[in-house]
Amino acid sequence: MRIMLLGPPGAGKGTQATRLVETHGIPQLSTGDMLRAAVKAQTPIGLQAKAVMDAGILVPDDVVIGIVADRIEEQDAKRGFILDGFPRTVAQAEALGRMLAAKGLALDAVIELVVDESALLARVQKRAAEAVARGEPVRTDDNPAALRKRLEAYRAQTAPLSEYYRSTGQLRTVDGMLPVELVSSAIAALLQR
Ligand code: AMP
Repeated sequence: MRIMLLGPPGAGKGTQATRLVETHGIPQLSTGDMLRAAVKAQTPIGLQAKAVMDAGILVPDDVVIGIVADRIEEQDAKRGFILDGFPRTVAQAEALGRMLAAKGLALDAVIELVVDESALLARVQKRAAEAVARGEPVRTDDNPAALRKRLEAYRAQTAPLSEYYRSTGQLRTVDGMLPVELVSSAIAALLQR
């Protein structure tokens, strides 16, 4: 199964992706996590991406497309994957479509978590507080100024993907304001259809 989760920062993509990993036994491919790992390891991509990520804007398409192209070739992704945070622009969606088509594959579903923007700041602040409670570092972009920029980037560059995937017939929407368990059940029901 090849699934993509779509939604703004704080919509619950990471939470739902973790649950889908458990149910379906396929990996979560989070470009945000991959980029944060590159920043931590100070790889050339990480060094280039750090300031861009901290400012809440998008890393160039060719960089993330290259990361995903390599990642989907790995053995654990052969049976499927859950894309979390990729694609984020129409150019990335087109590149993904080409990558999969070259293997005779396509996404089985694009699941959009629909949430009220007014809830997102509180959710991102909760995520930061939970990281502190676990003794983990807080994401450097989980603060009000960077979140504002991330939302701007989402509206301008990522939200058009709803229409893109609606036109291909792959889009499914779920009410992301429901409690986590109910969002998971709604996704499970969609995937069973
Ligand atoms: P995320 O963890 O998905 O919220 O991503 C954190 C940051 O990583 C974003 O604000 C971007 O700067 C960068 N990023 C993650 N995924 C992408 C992507 N598909 N395209 C461009 N930038 C990305």
